[in-house]
Amino acid sequence: MKFTKIVAATTALVLTAGMGAAAEKQFVSIGTGGVTGVYYPTGGAICRLVNKNRKEHGIRCSVESTGGSIYNINTLRAGELEFGVAQSDWQYHAYNGTSKFKDAGPFKKLRAVFSVHAEPVTILARRDSGIKNITDIKGKRFNIGNDGSGTQGTWQVIEETLGWKRSDLALATKMKSAETAGALCDGKIDGYFWLVGHPSGLTQETVASCDAVIVPAVSPEIDKLVAEKPYYRKAIIPGGMYPGNPDDIQTFGVGATFVTSADVSEEAVYQVAKAVLGNLDDFRKLHPAFAHLKAEEMIRDSLSAPLHPGAIRAYKELGLMD
Ligand code: GLU
Repeated sequence: MKFTKIVAATTALVLTAGMGAAAEKQFVSIGTGGVTGVYYPTGGAICRLVNKNRKEHGIRCSVESTGGSIYNINTLRAGELEFGVAQSDWQYHAYNGTSKFKDAGPFKKLRAVFSVHAEPVTILARRDSGIKNITDIKGKRFNIGNDGSGTQGTWQVIEETLGWKRSDLALATKMKSAETAGALCDGKIDGYFWLVGHPSGLTQETVASCDAVIVPAVSPEIDKLVAEKPYYRKAIIPGGMYPGNPDDIQTFGVGATFVTSADVSEEAVYQVAKAVLGNLDDFRKLHPAFAHLKAEEMIRDSLSAPLHPGAIRAYKELGLMD
């Protein structure tokens, strides 16, 4: 017993000495999404750049696969995650305590770090389902997104916008994104949707596995919604990006954003923000959805929560901000 204690104490001493001038060892976790989405590789790309300089700053970054935006924000709020990827609409609502976050009240400690890729509403349907536009989903068997996903939250908004009730769907399933391609191709559902960056693994998997089409989300009600809300914008899924889908698809969407809490240290946020924005050329190469990211947009667009002071420090140092 005594011996074990001595060994443990010696190990701790050696570890501390070995770290030299580096900051104290700190672990940060990023909440992402399902493994076939783009949030998961986004977290992976961020951690990869952070962990490159682990020896100097002492921060070890790791990624968690989660249910998505709303789970990430709630878990950040509970202090169980240091960072999360979240849709810009849910960042807005969490900070302001509106929509799904009305009962929880405003999450005033929510802080923005940067925005990442665009996430258009992406509706996939079996070609034989008769779904040719968002408005055709009424009466169909449709996956509205798993609990905790921003996708399911946004479905609720779409439903209200189109004046539908949940019972207007023949079947509303809440499968995880990774299960939806199989369910669609097996004929268990007529369609599914999610808000995701492009190209995305799951979308690719779906169109490669069966005759699935990506359909537009166009209607006067949607136009009105986009005009009224600052966090929605019109979007296009480029034609030819996926086999069997040669034409541009008109839709609307949000931005994927990277968020944290005011309780996370300035040093940790500074190091993470600097690792990404200071190495943007490398970051862009880590996922094709990042190919066109621009620094000035990433630190400005789709961010409704205030920037974390650690992020501001990094952007000033990098000359991105006055
Ligand atoms: N936007 C999705 C959500 O929060 C996740 C997309 C992804 O995993 O890339 O539901």
